Amino acid sequence: MSTTPDPRLQGHAGPPRDRLGRLPRDLRISVTDRCNFRCTYCMPAEIFGRDFAFLPRSEILRYEEITRLAGIFVRLGVEKLRITGGEPTVRRDLPDLVRQLASIEGVRDLTLTTNGSALRTLAAPLADAGLHRVTVSLDSLDDAVFRAMSGIDMPLARVLDGIAAARAAGLAPVKINMVVRRGVNEASIVPMARWARDAGFILRYIEYMDVGTANGWRLDDVVPGAEIIALVDAAFPLEDLQPNYAGEVANRFRYLDGAGEIGVIASVTAPFCGACSRARLSAEGELFTCLFAAHGTDLRAPLRSGVDDAGLEARIRAAWGARDDRYSELRSASTVNLPRVEMFAIGG
Ligand code: SF4
Repeated sequence: MSTTPDPRLQGHAGPPRDRLGRLPRDLRISVTDRCNFRCTYCMPAEIFGRDFAFLPRSEILRYEEITRLAGIFVRLGVEKLRITGGEPTVRRDLPDLVRQLASIEGVRDLTLTTNGSALRTLAAPLADAGLHRVTVSLDSLDDAVFRAMSGIDMPLARVLDGIAAARAAGLAPVKINMVVRRGVNEASIVPMARWARDAGFILRYIEYMDVGTANGWRLDDVVPGAEIIALVDAAFPLEDLQPNYAGEVANRFRYLDGAGEIGVIASVTAPFCGACSRARLSAEGELFTCLFAAHGTDLRAPLRSGVDDAGLEARIRAAWGARDDRYSELRSASTVNLPRVEMFAIGG
């Protein structure tokens, strides 16, 4: 992380720190609460069925509104913009948003998290619009397990073709996120490692989390990061790697034979709230300061009622300054049933 004073902050109060001294460096932008998948750990079909009332179009931020807010966050020190959802590629004309965000001075990393189902056709237009890289969620290479985890009847090949299209379009690195759920896909841990290392993708295993209120989370269903790493290490010996930057969510490991790296995001067994630099903007324009928060700060109302950038910046500074979130460090049997925003409303 650079220590030279940032020219954009000349004359400003400097980036806001929260109550634990953390800076906002990473903005996750949910562009829709809708998704064409029904992943069991995020949007189980039995609860979010065909007639579930998602946000009406009038209530979600327009691309210009998202870009304006993102510009303010970047002036406050945010360097990384991650486009997410729901499933962001179900929103029309997504390359237009990418083009707008890519034009913001100071964006050092512009990325997208997707289930990969639309990348066959969208990877090239997104790359042309200025997207740097993608993260694709893929929980198994076993077609039946893939369908069980994603809750839909779509062939795995569709996602694999999308991943290949992302690489062909020059979106790099391509990262693969795999949520591991005991009793469902732990048998896929080593096959996924073999596939990703042979193909040159960075695979990150994610401990199953108590996100939202609908996935029926139990601690017994969590495969700890240490167990995942031990399984992979037994097949392909690993060594620790330093984080790319302070606040990086994944613990990184390198294959001793030089065939690349993997990561593990162990929010349950090895929480990382201390350096959490992530802010989240929901599709309807609320600022959330934690993945497990119950409430956010409404930025859409002031935005649409004519408040200027300084006024919006003041609201963001106030919300971030009051932040003391560290849910994963405080997680216990008594926190599991607390109200929480759904993950698909703010992006993982
Ligand atoms: S639980 Fe909240 S504060 Fe902790 S790392 Fe996750 S988002 Fe950040």
